[in-house]
Amino acid sequence: MIDFSLSDDLLELRDRVRAFVRDEVIPLERDPRQDAHGPSPELVSELQSRAAARGLLSPHVAPEYGGLGLDHRGRAVVFEEAGYSPLGSLALNVSAPDEGNAHLLEHVATEAQKERWLRPHAAGELRTCFAMTEPPPGAGSDPTLLRTTAVPDGDGWRIDGVKKWITGPVGAGVCIVMARTSPEGAERVEATMFLVPMDAPGIHVEEQLSTLDSQFVGGHARMRFDGVRVGADQVLGAFGEGFRYAQVRLAPARLTHCMRHLGGARRCHDIAAAYVRERTAFGRPLAKYEGVGFQLADNEMELRTCRLLVWHTAWLLDQGAEAGEASSQAKVVVSEAVWRIADRSVQLLGGLGVSDETVVARIFKDIRPFRIYDGPSEVHRWSLGRRIARRGGPVET
Ligand SMILES: Cc1cc2nc3c(=O)[nH]c(=O)nc-3n(C[C@H](O)[C@H](O)[C@H](O)COP(=O)(O)OP(=O)(O)OC[C@H]3O[C@@H](n4cnc5c(N)ncnc54)[C@H](O)[C@@H]3O)c2cc1C
Repeated sequence: MIDFSLSDDLLELRDRVRAFVRDEVIPLERDPRQDAHGPSPELVSELQSRAAARGLLSPHVAPEYGGLGLDHRGRAVVFEEAGYSPLGSLALNVSAPDEGNAHLLEHVATEAQKERWLRPHAAGELRTCFAMTEPPPGAGSDPTLLRTTAVPDGDGWRIDGVKKWITGPVGAGVCIVMARTSPEGAERVEATMFLVPMDAPGIHVEEQLSTLDSQFVGGHARMRFDGVRVGADQVLGAFGEGFRYAQVRLAPARLTHCMRHLGGARRCHDIAAAYVRERTAFGRPLAKYEGVGFQLADNEMELRTCRLLVWHTAWLLDQGAEAGEASSQAKVVVSEAVWRIADRSVQLLGGLGVSDETVVARIFKDIRPFRIYDGPSEVHRWSLGRRIARRGGPVET
């Protein structure tokens, strides 16, 4: 039986996060310590100190490493509340890519690696980044095109290659680098993940990229790995398991993006709904027009549908089920629905919707790239379609 009941402890935590976001995070949304590449480290540090003071920092990390140890359903509830502000996830230290990286570290890193990288991350002292994507003709939608290589060199390896669209390398302490470790021309491409300190010789952040969104610290960048030396203690988990670990990271990471963006979409809807209740045109409040009411109704129905899908997928993960396909479906449905909700909210707000007088335009811009990162919608549909085709069997009538 699917259990969607929320424990008293979780309800209490949800209410505390909601109050924290309302009282301490939203008032800082216009803080000048932010630019096109995201909030500054100083602003994030201030937000995280406030979250720590309320016992809300790093709810995703296991208690033995300093977090609150929430399961996936707990995360669904808390991350949606955090996502209600573009700064909320950073305040709680549950923003991408750190939150997904923490999950990966917790599941596959050695004890020594967890002590070195996970514990300080949970304390808000260290940021991480994850480098898989490359410029054409390298890895993108198709990760097997990986061109960054790690070749044996003395008692370790030497990493060479270029990565693009990497979130947050500026100011990060460590980068999880995905590199090809199968020999040139091998029949099957094999990859390995390495933990590389960002001050290692040979790592270059070549360019900070200008993108639509501005919610991640350090923005997005192109990086070059130029003969970066790594030893055996820097292999994350087991050698040659890079593609499998990418799935270990991505299945829950896609879902936590859904949780956070759901909070952002809810905020857009709340602001738009408040506006159309007050604003009058042609003799009555806008909300009384059918064309407006239908948009409000669509927003609420989609918010509810997304929440159910997220909770159901979180429940599957909590049962230890193989939830790759479910999280892929949830990612497509939610990324497209939250985009529609944000878009309708912009429309309902008229000129205000495209201005910076509300946070809606900012959330609208932050939500759009979600249909691309962690796998574009088309790739998820294509891969799902292939799996359905392979299943075969008679057509049910
Ligand atoms: C804001 C942002 C942050 C990111 N952060 C990171 C990060 O931290 N680390 C990291 O490694 N990567 C990151 N990425 C990269 C992201 O994962 C890739 O952009 C994504 O996998 C798509 O790869 P690509 O950009 O090379 O697009 P391409 O592979 O060139 O694909 C372009 C488009 O082609 C279409 N397409 C591709 N394959 C198919 C198919 N089989 N069927 C139909 N249509 C198809 C899709 O519409 C797709 O959007 C980030 C991207 C963005 C936008």
